[in-house]
Amino acid sequence: MRAAQGHLNDVIRFSAVDGPGNRFVVFLQGCNFDCIACHNPYTINECDSCGVCVEPCPEMVLWFDGRHQVVVDDDQCTDCGICIDVCPSDSTPLSKMVELDDLLGRIEEVSHFISGITVSGGEPTLQADYVAGLFCSLKCSDKLGHLTTFVDSNGSADRETWDRLLPVMDGAMVDLKALDPGTHKEMTGVDNAAVLDSIRYLAEWQRLYEVRLLMVPGKNDSPEVVERTARWLFDVDPEMRIKLIGFRQHGVRPQFSHIPEAEAAHIESLAEIIKKVGIKELVVV
Ligand code: SF4
Ligand code: SF4
Repeated sequence: MRAAQGHLNDVIRFSAVDGPGNRFVVFLQGCNFDCIACHNPYTINECDSCGVCVEPCPEMVLWFDGRHQVVVDDDQCTDCGICIDVCPSDSTPLSKMVELDDLLGRIEEVSHFISGITVSGGEPTLQADYVAGLFCSLKCSDKLGHLTTFVDSNGSADRETWDRLLPVMDGAMVDLKALDPGTHKEMTGVDNAAVLDSIRYLAEWQRLYEVRLLMVPGKNDSPEVVERTARWLFDVDPEMRIKLIGFRQHGVRPQFSHIPEAEAAHIESLAEIIKKVGIKELVVV
């Protein structure tokens, strides 16, 4: 099934950090995790039109429409971000329902300068029909058929959802917040059974581009835990590519501001442990 409209948070026309090469990145609105280390918390929830952000907007470009929905005048919005800062619901009044054809038009404008599309979020697999429709349209297009198709996922999708994407998806980047289910639940609000299964399933279908390990001090960054995680990933696929990321405070919600940032020397020592397990492709950022 092809969904004609998707709930879009934003797009970035050029990115060098969201998959291989230069990529157009689509951020979809809505996530089923509530991660303590989320750097884009305003993508988590749908706006419930509570109206809290209307009055603080310095340009006065937010108002209630006839259906009592908060809407924005895009032409007058200065992207100051105040509405996002004051939102009590980890949302934004700036997200939009966007027609697939509109999105394809925006991609076409830059298609000569990019190597592919990455759909991120939020969690892109929650809008799997829209993503499948986008990827399918790209693959069938004379002008856009050269673009590779990736998703950046929290790994929560079930096999049926991945089966809808696999025929048109070139690769997936999956976050593994913690190998231990209890720690995963503490860090994301849910356990990790589906994430571990997604990693196995995507590796089996050779669509797992990269597993991302975000090291949050005191939560998941002990040498013993990282070694066990690397061994598990190596057993899934000895050619596994891992990206090791040190936690940074930027963009994180105030209630998690007490979590310290990762120290570079500690991340380097964890990288050595991962290499000793046998992982050959390791990127440290
Ligand atoms: S963006 Fe947040 S504050 Fe503004 S109306 Fe929606 S839920 Fe309320
Ligand atoms: S970003 Fe939000 S607060 Fe700022 S001008 Fe736009 S709508 Fe108003």
